Amino acid sequence: MPTSISLDTPVAELYRHIARLGPTNSLKLAMALAGTEQKKAETATIEDLLHYLPMRYEDRSSLARIRDLQDGMEVSLDLYVKIAGGYQVRNKRSFKQRLFIFEIAATDREHSGQDVVVWTFLSGPHAQKIITNYAKRFTRGSRFVAYGKWEWDPRRHTFSLRLNKPDEIEILPLGPRASRPHVSPITNSGEIEILPAETSSGATEDSPADDDSADEESEGDPALAAIHVGRRVPVYRKLGEFRPKQLREIIHRVLLGIADHSIPETLPDELRRRQLLIGRAEALRRIHFPAENDSLEDYERARSTAHRRLIFEDFFWLALGLLVKRGIRIREQKGTRIKIDQAMKLRIKAVLPFKLTEAQRRAVKDIFRDLQSDAPMNRLLQGDVGSGKTIVACIAMLAAMENGYQTALMAPTEILAEQHSRNLKRLLARTPFRVELLTGSLRAAEKRRLQGDLASGEIQAAIGTQALIQEGVSFQKLGLAVIDEQHRFGVLQRAELRARGFNPDVLVMTATPIPRSLAMTVYGDLDVSIIDEMPPGRTPVETKVFASTEENRKEVKRLMTRELRAGRQIYVVYPLVGESEKMDLQDATRRYEYLRDRVFPKLKVGLLHGKMKPAEKDEVMSRFVAGEIQILVSTTVIEVGVDVSNASVMIVEHAERFGLSQLHQLRGRVGRGAEQSYCILLTADNKTSGALERLGIMAKSSDGFLVAEKDLELRGPGELLGTKQAGLPVFRVGNLVRDLQILEAARKEAEFYLYKREGSAETREMIERVHSDARFGLAAVG
Ligand code: ADP
Ligand code: MG
Repeated sequence: MPTSISLDTPVAELYRHIARLGPTNSLKLAMALAGTEQKKAETATIEDLLHYLPMRYEDRSSLARIRDLQDGMEVSLDLYVKIAGGYQVRNKRSFKQRLFIFEIAATDREHSGQDVVVWTFLSGPHAQKIITNYAKRFTRGSRFVAYGKWEWDPRRHTFSLRLNKPDEIEILPLGPRASRPHVSPITNSGEIEILPAETSSGATEDSPADDDSADEESEGDPALAAIHVGRRVPVYRKLGEFRPKQLREIIHRVLLGIADHSIPETLPDELRRRQLLIGRAEALRRIHFPAENDSLEDYERARSTAHRRLIFEDFFWLALGLLVKRGIRIREQKGTRIKIDQAMKLRIKAVLPFKLTEAQRRAVKDIFRDLQSDAPMNRLLQGDVGSGKTIVACIAMLAAMENGYQTALMAPTEILAEQHSRNLKRLLARTPFRVELLTGSLRAAEKRRLQGDLASGEIQAAIGTQALIQEGVSFQKLGLAVIDEQHRFGVLQRAELRARGFNPDVLVMTATPIPRSLAMTVYGDLDVSIIDEMPPGRTPVETKVFASTEENRKEVKRLMTRELRAGRQIYVVYPLVGESEKMDLQDATRRYEYLRDRVFPKLKVGLLHGKMKPAEKDEVMSRFVAGEIQILVSTTVIEVGVDVSNASVMIVEHAERFGLSQLHQLRGRVGRGAEQSYCILLTADNKTSGALERLGIMAKSSDGFLVAEKDLELRGPGELLGTKQAGLPVFRVGNLVRDLQILEAARKEAEFYLYKREGSAETREMIERVHSDARFGLAAVG
């Protein structure tokens, strides 16, 4: 067998290197793999294949025997088929859909106990075909391994194992002991009443093609048995048509065929010694086939030495890439020269309507340091809704304006821009600085006049949406750009400003509170300041989770009536999620009409949704801000970013469809004054305990960071940030939630090489490597 496999070998050409895998299947494997790596089939390499990690591991070094079984035990048994077949059972959930059970009665080599039963539910149009196919595979005498939780079945007086898919069973080589007798499917419709409550939900629905798919060539080859039993084995998630067992064989053969020196080390020896990390080749081998004395428990928790090594590698290169990027920025010269002296600080202080919180003070200090440094500021100001980010931005702008520079404040929507403009005009009324709002709704003549004043430097603070920059407006001397993105992330970045000919200091504000260590990877090379403290005098919002029943709705209505009588305003928010968008819109519209016509005919109810024109939206929103509308029914979240301090109730319909962080953002729209406010989370899904439990976190905590951490745990970073293009790097092994500690350590190592070993050959080599890695997008910088 040729042993010239390297990490760069295309998977599509694997058939040239290992036996028993044809060109067709090599290509199929490459295609399946490319799908998971989001690349083209031709480019899927052995490196990709080796990063297709097991989803779990099984210890088959000593397989259990039937005699050893106890109720609830999770073990693998080495079994032989006695009889196998399918039969129809009554479907309690649906009369239309037929439900089948496929069942195998089996014994072990020694007949050490009663025959055990392995079974699964099947449904769907192809169920019968699948049963026929399975019956062909599980002929009398076939040897197989079945892993799972064995339960005592008192009715049959033996142990049984329920599987989600018979695919989970592996037919082993050392083949049939007897010839293959025909096992005819037993039809036994409706007699058996052993259906557990969940019935059809857990049934397999599959196309028949699924079953007689890729090669089964090894089934009769005893030489391969050693890969699958008598050791710890990896169990993979099915990949395309490739079942766990086939993948195990292929990867095993690839690992045999690739030499250690073809798996080059990527981490310095010294670092590995310091961090107790094993070599890359060893890690890639052991992550698939754990060594005999490795603890499988560590593997399951992704804490084996193999896992740690590969995760570290993932994070180390990411951290290094980001630091390099930041280094490039820091070495850049900015045009502005900002000085902040004591007298100026006092002038700024005189403008403030209140005492800053400790957290705000810290943020201001960070920003002042950045402004005065030679390197351009690229800072993220992170703080919960209502934590008072605006005033911090305002102080930064004042400092820049005091130094003779212009400033720009950009918001995601016109309404928010207007709000900022109102606030800033009020705050800066007694300063010599002129604040102007430049938005799309200005009349042409007015716009031209303002643009002229901006270009000649007569306006010091320009407020607008991002169109402010995108429309090619010219400034005389732009020194600071503040970007308020509310909870949206990554819309406008410094790079974009630069591309348009500006190179100011940049302050980005976000209300997505995420853990600091995560912020580093998510926000790339931004420095982060966190406001983790609320201004004094807030009454926490009372949050209640309700199943959306008739009775509960009455209670909600009582609360609404009470608050409306007290002159307060109410938000009712509907989710708008992808596929069901139309239905959601109908829901919201119907609710709006119902509230308007039937429940509160004397009040003004407004409707706001994404399909409306911007001007219509603004109109509705402005009326809500002005208090002309008492109840605002809305499908969109973005437009709700407005500060209406008179609003005291936030009702969220189908709350289970929102992420916790989104709910937290919504909740932040109320409770802006000292009065008691309420957040009502209604859920139609009161059956799955998961939904109620998740929403329960909201009722328990008003801390955005805590909520975000939970959200991260439950849904992952992509969802937390509410956008797939949040620029999150893709990790092959690392997991930002699970492995935060490793991330921390990797970042420290990256800093060590960049700063303490600056200029060494080793560090230079690393930097080169980062530059040539497309993931970091450094090619575009510098
Ligand atoms: P966000 O961080 O969500 O943008 P804002 O800047 O809109 O929050 O501030 C929310 C409210 O809190 C505003 O009405 C603001 O005037 C007020 N506020 C901010 N900081 C303080 C403070 N230190 N003391 C009292 N009120 C404050
Ligand atoms: Mg704000």
